[in-house]
Order: sequence, then structure tokens, then C-alpha cells
Amino acid sequence: MTDTAQRIRREDPAPGVARIVLARPKKRNAQDPELLYQLDTALMEAASDSSVKVIILAADGPDFSSGHDLAAGFYVPCAPVASMEGGFDAPGVEGHLAFEHETYLGLCRRWRSLPKPTIAEVQGRVIAGGLMLIWPLDLIVAADDATFSDPVSAFGVNGVEYFVHPWEVGARKAKEMLFTGEPLTAREAHSLGMVNRVVPVEELAERTLDLARRIAARPALGLRLAKESVNTAVDAQGQPAAIDHAFALHNLGHANNLARHGQLIDPEGRAIVRAAARNNRTGG
Ligand code: ZN
Repeated sequence: MTDTAQRIRREDPAPGVARIVLARPKKRNAQDPELLYQLDTALMEAASDSSVKVIILAADGPDFSSGHDLAAGFYVPCAPVASMEGGFDAPGVEGHLAFEHETYLGLCRRWRSLPKPTIAEVQGRVIAGGLMLIWPLDLIVAADDATFSDPVSAFGVNGVEYFVHPWEVGARKAKEMLFTGEPLTAREAHSLGMVNRVVPVEELAERTLDLARRIAARPALGLRLAKESVNTAVDAQGQPAAIDHAFALHNLGHANNLARHGQLIDPEGRAIVRAAARNNRTGG
């Protein structure tokens, strides 16, 4: 039976500020479809709530998110909200392509276009799909213990489904990140412009709220227009077409894995990721 327990919590810590929290810490906030759609609902409610001017996305526990919960399976727990997709059960890669288009790429694009400022409040590890919860947001405040990695080339695909790495960290660092799977530290991410601020982990919530409060003092329309102007500038650089192309290649990778290994990811990837993590710990 599908577990539909609550994975998302909403708090209202200050006038004009909603704080939405990933509340699945025992699973390191791994994203099963229930979590993603509960998050989407919470964001939509905050977007349509006229008392909310700024939205913070935070996470319980030591790690912000360990990525997609692959053990949970691939299903859409409610009517599609990001697309008109169907046929999620179709064989081959057809059904999975529809699922990823709706649930992974579709939700990210929807959240990126939410017409209010959004801030990610990030501690601990952000792995693969975890990046897809922070990159669509407007600002990122990182604790000094935060790390960011996308190791999925080990699984025979290019990178996560919302492929904006070249914009987030620059083309050369994006290649290193994808080729090695090694994590960026919060300070590295800050120096690359991916993160707005790095703060001591014990001050993370307060410092993020302080930033949100200052934004919330400004008129909602000005904030909306500023956000849309920056997003459109990035779109004009060709980001949407680049994302679509990378998404198609990503699913080419899934199709190849399915043909060669009978599953969507290369089964040898887990050993590669584990060995790389051991090397990182020993400084190798
Ligand atoms: Zn995928």
C-alpha cells in the first residue's frame, strides 16, 4: 500500500513569509512522488495566499535531500499538474519518459516560474535530485556544512533531469562535477555564484529568515517583475532549449540502460558512487 503520510510541513515564521519544510529526515528527505506532489501543493497554496510574499524551502534533519527515492518507484500520485502527460505505465522507456517529463522536469519548471521570491535554506548533503529542489528557486542560503553533488553519470546518464549545471556553476566546473561526481562545498558553490550566502549551520534558519523578512518589506509586484525579468534574461540565453536537449539525452541514457541491463540505470553505478565516497572521505 502506498504510504501517504505527510512529508511536508508549512510554517509562517514572520509576516509575509511562508516556510515550507521537507519533513522526511529519516530518509534524508529522499524524494518519492508523494513528497514531490505534497511540496507542489504547499508551494501552490503559498503562491495563491495573498498574505505570503516570500517562500522559504527548508529541510528537517542533517541533510537537505539525498535525491530521488528510487526504491519508491515511478508513479504520479494525483492528476498530472505540470503537463498533460499520461501513459505512465507504458512499456519500454515510453512510460518513464512521460513520468520524468511530468514529475521531474515539469515540476521544476513550474516551481521556477512561481511568481514570488523563493529561497532555499540548505544544510548537509544535496545529492542529484536534491539539486532539483534548490536550483529552480531564486536564492540559496547554505550552511557551512552543505555540499552539492550530481554523481549520476555513474548510472549511464548525463546528469539530473533539470539540467542547468552550466548556468549554476559555469561550463568548466559543470563538466568536472558531472565527470567526477565529487561534491562542491558551500564555499566553492558561493565562489561560483551558485549560492548567495554561506552561514554557520546553527544560524541557518535565522539568517535565512532575516533575508526573507527584508525581501518581504518590498512590494509584491516589484518583486514579481524583477524575478520574471531575470528569468527571461536566462531564457533568452537559450536555457530552456538546452534543458530540453539534455532531458532528451538523459532519456536516451535510460533507454540504453533498459536495453543493455534491463533497468533504467546502469547497475554498476552504485559501486562507482560508493568507491568515490570512500575516496572523498580518505582524501584520495
Ligand atoms: Zn532519469
